[in-house]
Amino acid sequence: MILSKLNARSKWVLFSIENRCAAIVASGIARFVPKFIVMRQLKKETNEPFLLAQFTKMYDRMLKKIGNRLKMSKKERIEKVYSTARDEFDEIEHLKNQIWREKDQKDKLDGLKDELDDEKNIFFVCSRHQNPAKDHAEYQGKLYYSEKWAERTKDEHIARYIKSHRGLKSVEEVCYNTPYLVTRPNCKHTLKPVRASTVLSGEWKDEVDYVKDVSRNLTYEKYYERAKFLTEMNKRLPNKEAARDIARTRALMRKHKNKK
Ligand SMILES: [Zn+2]
Repeated sequence: MILSKLNARSKWVLFSIENRCAAIVASGIARFVPKFIVMRQLKKETNEPFLLAQFTKMYDRMLKKIGNRLKMSKKERIEKVYSTARDEFDEIEHLKNQIWREKDQKDKLDGLKDELDDEKNIFFVCSRHQNPAKDHAEYQGKLYYSEKWAERTKDEHIARYIKSHRGLKSVEEVCYNTPYLVTRPNCKHTLKPVRASTVLSGEWKDEVDYVKDVSRNLTYEKYYERAKFLTEMNKRLPNKEAARDIARTRALMRKHKNKK
């Protein structure tokens, strides 16, 4: 994979879709031509290998090389490189999203565990969301306690509070059992520790965070990025398959535009 060979200084340029397109095409080309030839060519063209201007020159040369090797017409070469690069893009995006999702989930679980392990924390409040999952609605905006509370305090007021509030549930009960508040993948709820004094004075409700539904339309964004990428590709490697892919992706983009 050519992208991993980028030096640290060059990596930031991949934030732009144009440069990502260029790098992915280079990577696609590298499947047909030995990688060292691509790298040598990149080095020759520029010291800042992944800036766009130099790529157009490189495509031409690389396409010729592929054509000679595989005995293809120019049209066939272009289609071959295009479809390879497109598949590479899809693969990378898929992987990227998977990694992000897994990382988010891991961060959330680690964060919750740290807060629960913290000796200072006895009470927690759960955030309240505009559009919660149905089975989480009755659990949001409420107070919870840690089952380790007795090891953490000898305060009788706290003991009395926990024992006398019958409906009060523990974090362990709601987060590590049904309904898996916070810990369920894609759950946006968060728990926040609150001071015992705030709970005892009855003011803990002021600590509840209200979260308006600002969830991003990720499906739309995914198709938007893909359409942009394919359009850039089609500028450099104009071909019928690209035109079809663009039309299809734009149709999906429109379909998902106002959905959440
Ligand atoms: Zn939730």
